[in-house]
Amino acid sequence: MSKLMVSVSGVRGVIGETLTPSVIIRYISAFAQLINGKKIVIGSDSRVSREIVKMLASSTLMNYGYTVIDLGIVPTPTVQFLTEQLEADAGLVITASHNPLEWNGLKFIDSNGLFLSPKKCEQLFKLADTGQFNYKGWDQIGKLETYSEAATDHINAILKLSLVDKKLIRSKEFKVVLDTVNGAGGRIMNQLLTELGCTIIHINAEETGMFAHTPEPIPENLKDLAERVKNEAADFGIAVDPDVDRCVFINEHGQAIGEEYTLAMAVKLVLSKKLGHVVKNMSSSRAIDDIAKYYNCLAYETAVGEINVANKMIEINAVIGGEGNGGVMLPEIHIGRDAPVAAALALQFMAEMNKPLSEIKADLPHYEICKLKAPIDTVDPDKVIDYFKTQYQKEKLNDTDGLKISTQDWWVHLRKSNTEPIIRVIAEAENMEIAEKIARQFMDEIKSLS
Ligand code: MG
Repeated sequence: MSKLMVSVSGVRGVIGETLTPSVIIRYISAFAQLINGKKIVIGSDSRVSREIVKMLASSTLMNYGYTVIDLGIVPTPTVQFLTEQLEADAGLVITASHNPLEWNGLKFIDSNGLFLSPKKCEQLFKLADTGQFNYKGWDQIGKLETYSEAATDHINAILKLSLVDKKLIRSKEFKVVLDTVNGAGGRIMNQLLTELGCTIIHINAEETGMFAHTPEPIPENLKDLAERVKNEAADFGIAVDPDVDRCVFINEHGQAIGEEYTLAMAVKLVLSKKLGHVVKNMSSSRAIDDIAKYYNCLAYETAVGEINVANKMIEINAVIGGEGNGGVMLPEIHIGRDAPVAAALALQFMAEMNKPLSEIKADLPHYEICKLKAPIDTVDPDKVIDYFKTQYQKEKLNDTDGLKISTQDWWVHLRKSNTEPIIRVIAEAENMEIAEKIARQFMDEIKSLS
């Protein structure tokens, strides 16, 4: 049986197994109590179970006196953006991001539109565990409202960005194959690309939650999209995950350019107009550091998790940030991973570069990342990490989140999983052969310890 996953990214579980009505009510009650507000914005991705979770969550929130503003099926970044725009005390997204369709979950948003801080998450989880809830009486209950303009508001804000030259992008008349995996990106991505003058061949466009393929937007799940880009002789392909915070590109030959390059294109575009600090998580490509260095700017690294990147971006007033998994965070609109923003910036970049995506990628710093999972069974993952810390003490180490060992030619990031008895081994080098060799070498070493 699956486990309920509880982390800074929220709560995720399998409907009817680990994410049951009582679990949902418990976490929502804790959230309502922790925020102690009056107004909350709520949205969901397209999962079949969305209404169950939404009704449970909404009625619980109303029992705490909240006015619940339902945005309908919308991307996670749209809920974040609207939480700020509508001046709500909090936001809630009902989504399990890229997990398969039997999953659902809760992403908790603070009044500033950012995910709850790790500290507040801890308080929330503790409160959920103790179950000391103080519901309001009949005369203090809240109400339910709907707001149907959320996606339009979000798109309008993107089209107004100083970096996005609508006229230039439209003049390119891009032909795009779009795969929204029957998730929450169907309407918003189509509408955005239409506004940007694209001819769209839209596959898996229905927001039914019946995901047409494994929803994580990684190359092995995007074969139909890649094929279609080639067959249609399109300029490129775009894929997003079900809650539309990750965005990846396929080049004109039907090859995935790698999820790391969504952020790389955005960073290059932003820094070419405005110099400033860049933030990424520890598992993101060195290509970002190289681009920042080229512009004499600094790139900072944080622990994995959107909120960690977001907090650092605010602290140092970064001009751009994100995660290498296709998550771009642009403070000019809102600090949160946003696939529609990522798509708009990439289209702007391609329009300015005025050459095929394969050539644009070839001009960016080139690295390959290999991601493996090392089973650790009964061994304490912290001891494994400590072992490598001693073993590689002469190299550049970063132990903010697991351990990252960096050398001139490669880096490896070892990170324990919160949900499985494994250590994630992520290695990057100038080509896949070396990256894989390094990752395997660490896998073998971890194996020898158990
Ligand atoms: Mg997601």
